[in-house]
Amino acid sequence: MIETNETHDPALTSWVSSANDAHSDFPIQNLPFAIFRLSGSSESFRGGVAIGDQVLDLAKAQKSGVFTGIAQQGLDRCCEPTLNAYMAMGQPVWSALRLALSRALRTGAEAEKSLQHCLIPQADVEFDLPCTIGDYTDFYTSVHHATSIGALFRPDNPLLPNYKWVPIGYHGRASSIGVSGQMFHRPVGQTKAPDALEPSFGPCKRLDYELEMGIYIGKSNELGDPIAIDQADQHVFGLCLFNDWSARDIQAWEYQPLGPFLAKNFASTVSPWIVTTEALAPFRKAWNRDENDPQPLAYLDSETNRSHGAFDISLDVSIETEQMRANGEPASFLSRSSFIHSYWTVGQMVAHHTVNGCNLQPGDLLGSGTQSGPLHEEAGSILELTKGGKEALVLANGEQRTFVEDGDAIIMRGWCEASGAARIGFGEVRGQVLPAKYKG
Ligand code: MN
Repeated sequence: MIETNETHDPALTSWVSSANDAHSDFPIQNLPFAIFRLSGSSESFRGGVAIGDQVLDLAKAQKSGVFTGIAQQGLDRCCEPTLNAYMAMGQPVWSALRLALSRALRTGAEAEKSLQHCLIPQADVEFDLPCTIGDYTDFYTSVHHATSIGALFRPDNPLLPNYKWVPIGYHGRASSIGVSGQMFHRPVGQTKAPDALEPSFGPCKRLDYELEMGIYIGKSNELGDPIAIDQADQHVFGLCLFNDWSARDIQAWEYQPLGPFLAKNFASTVSPWIVTTEALAPFRKAWNRDENDPQPLAYLDSETNRSHGAFDISLDVSIETEQMRANGEPASFLSRSSFIHSYWTVGQMVAHHTVNGCNLQPGDLLGSGTQSGPLHEEAGSILELTKGGKEALVLANGEQRTFVEDGDAIIMRGWCEASGAARIGFGEVRGQVLPAKYKG
């Protein structure tokens, strides 16, 4: 497990003054990574670290002469157009660069003079995916989501008997994952109403979002060598916000017997910033399994997982309709939840994924599954909030929604707060639906 250290000291401030704003997602205690370039330019994409409302350009920082040793070796890899090579280097390098960046960005640091010219306002940049995502696996770790979705798809049998023993997941598709700002066309496909004799074909009528955490693998494991639960932190580079767009009507017709397919592979959106596992150290919490539930098998259990396996990350979702944009109205709040409710931890997901010898590779993405909380209003999908499309939501401007409509943007945010720690945030992930490319 990664301990807190001087980089987490809540008393630290930065010479980048916007980082000292108590409401900033990116104080000096955070230091998340992204891939960026100047908006609309033909510059090469390269690594950046968020500090306040600025991006520290890591390709410029690499040439600044400020950094040495292992931290500089890490920076060498951060100049590349993807972070895969840096993520592959492992926790000792990630930790050395974090410490060096923290010291260089602190109030009073000598490095200020050399790094001033390495800052670019976040408002002036565009992002790419932070890494090449080779493989993507989506888990299903919220028992509240699994139970309420299960009740909609199988009223007589909502939670299948394996749920409390196995961290359930499926292999998704990486090619359609995009970075925040992603716009995609409403999917088209086969659906069948429960009372229809035959399926029909056309644009999805029940388009949904899923409020998830994304988990990026850094250091790989060899094929055949499982990652033990207490070793997971050495392999998980960090977390992001993740919207796993879902076509519920397509899903309902196709998902048996092999699970989700075209209902899930038309688009998924990640936030640009990866908040590192180390930055999240102050927000680890005990993970508890109800004594009336099955206790995890030995490979999914450890003292450290029980004492610090969970991450307390507050999450919220809002919707911005075309009408809101046209009228200059703010997005309308939909729900709030937390990753703390997850039935399985990140360590358990990694241990389970590799227990059969499966090799995870740098840049692989694990989705947590929709993070619905215990209360109805904490649901992480519109399908749950509207009880299967039966109860329309009334938005702040009076518009109504049962599912996501063309022109709607869904915006998710995440942040962490704990006593004795500086608040850090994930920024946001935003994605927008365009009309279907369908000519009847
Ligand atoms: Mn999902």
